[in-house]
Amino acid sequence: MNQTMGASNFIKNIVAEDVQTGVVSTVITRFPPEPNGYLHIGHAKSICLNFELATEFDGKTNLRFDDTNPLKENEEYVQSIKEDVKWLGFDWDNLCFASDYFPEMYQRACILIKKGKAYVCDLSAEQIREKRGTLTEPGQESPYRNRSVEENLGLFERMRKGEFVDGAKVLRAKIDMNSPNLNLRDPVLYRIAHAPHHRTGTTWCIYPMYDYAHPLEDAIEGVTHSICTLEFEDHRSLYDWMVRECEMDNTPHQYEFARLNMTNTVMSKRKLKKLVDEKIVDGWDDPRMPTISGLRRKGYTPEAIRTFAREIGVAKSNSKVDERLLEHFVREDLKLKAPRTMAILRPLRVVLTNYPVGQTEWLDAENNSENPEMGNRRIPFSREIYIEQDDFMENPPPKYFRLFPGNEVRLKHAYFIRCEEIVRDANGFVVELRCTYDPETKSGSGFTARKVKGTIHWIDATHALQAEFRLFEPLVNNAEDEVEDHFLTHINPRSMEVLHGYVEENVRNAHAYAKFQFFRHGYFSVDPKLSSDDQLVFNRAVSLKSSFSI
Ligand code: ATP
Ligand code: MG
Repeated sequence: MNQTMGASNFIKNIVAEDVQTGVVSTVITRFPPEPNGYLHIGHAKSICLNFELATEFDGKTNLRFDDTNPLKENEEYVQSIKEDVKWLGFDWDNLCFASDYFPEMYQRACILIKKGKAYVCDLSAEQIREKRGTLTEPGQESPYRNRSVEENLGLFERMRKGEFVDGAKVLRAKIDMNSPNLNLRDPVLYRIAHAPHHRTGTTWCIYPMYDYAHPLEDAIEGVTHSICTLEFEDHRSLYDWMVRECEMDNTPHQYEFARLNMTNTVMSKRKLKKLVDEKIVDGWDDPRMPTISGLRRKGYTPEAIRTFAREIGVAKSNSKVDERLLEHFVREDLKLKAPRTMAILRPLRVVLTNYPVGQTEWLDAENNSENPEMGNRRIPFSREIYIEQDDFMENPPPKYFRLFPGNEVRLKHAYFIRCEEIVRDANGFVVELRCTYDPETKSGSGFTARKVKGTIHWIDATHALQAEFRLFEPLVNNAEDEVEDHFLTHINPRSMEVLHGYVEENVRNAHAYAKFQFFRHGYFSVDPKLSSDDQLVFNRAVSLKSSFSI
């Protein structure tokens, strides 16, 4: 067993015991997404769990597309899922598609029919639901429940051939209409859907339901530990029934863990699709989306997501994780990796009236004060610079230590400057400051005669590069509203702020996804779609500080 992996959890303990007692020789897990949307951070938890578990026990993990519903699935989703799993840092042993097993699934359904364990039912979906009963009332048997094996085989064959319209018939398991577990009250195994499938085309017009397909998929692949979320706990006995009655060679077992829920985060592909379809966001990879592609675009790293998944652990009861915990791991990961440079998000021009016209000097600046290995760079300094608008106040409150008339501050890596004069436009808005600098106070010169309380960042105006900055807030406030689709009423109208300012010139050729810490503003990442040679566009991944402590 590979000892370098994360802490223990109840699923790992089960696997360890199965390996130790020889019940299982090779651990095989799978990540089984339905290609009906892009993956989100909840899926990342499942991906990490499945892949890391197999790695730890020298086992294997399949990436399996549970592509059993042609109405909602497509190739774009398949590609995005593969990309996201790879980006997270995992390699699957086998790439599998449930649709490859359709012929075997059909054969196994015929076995069930021959054993008298399945029948073709003509009730509508609505009628089936009505007759299913409730937790306190038994179900009622379908009038079609006692069709003969021959009749069922014939009808099932005709279903496959396309002789019936959608909804006209289904194949149901014959289990127990009185079972206290509603899932065992003759669940539907197959339905008719005359819809082309993205891989099998029009070969099939009947498609297996999750409860029938999933255990068979696991068994066919020899999966040993089939891990799913808690909602499926009540389906476990049905899972075992399928494996047994379909006479599968392998016997996989299902284990349930708590799904990831996160504050202020919509965590369901169906809902996320709605945000995309209604154009509330700019696609699945909008940086405000909790999708893996959205988080990637925002500037999150696979390392941060993997650490997060490991640290939140694997529990048996549902809870909600604070989204600031994920942000914390992004900061931790980027702290030593991202070069630190200056960016001005809301520029205010400053003219240093006593600095020689036309002169530029080059100042030394370290690229990451916490990581000397990242080396130094030279930054230009001359008579005109930009500072942040909010680093100046005309009438400051007490304890404001940045620029105000008559006050002196330090420019990071440069000199002390003093605010001498305010220039306004016709409307009275401050458009420029006139300051003086003190040549004695150069950073690193050992000047100690005077101290200042504030240090602000700046960019030389003649060398500055224009840039766009995108700052984000939660897309949905109160995503925890349990009422279906209520989340649309909680859309945060200020979820994105777009600013135009400047970055240091040496950021010029930054490639897509390149990450920087902009002093005092946080960690930013170059947007892969909007950024161009003419204008860099940065997404803020996280601000520098959080009130959250772990
Ligand atoms: P959604 O409800 O968002 O559509 P899903 O469960 O229907 O999710 P699938 O594609 O069927 O999506 O899921 C693939 C795997 O990811 C499943 O094993 C599922 O249990 C797991 N998974 C999905 N959501 C979460 C979550 N929030 N936390 C942990 N695992 C999850
Ligand atoms: Mg699903």
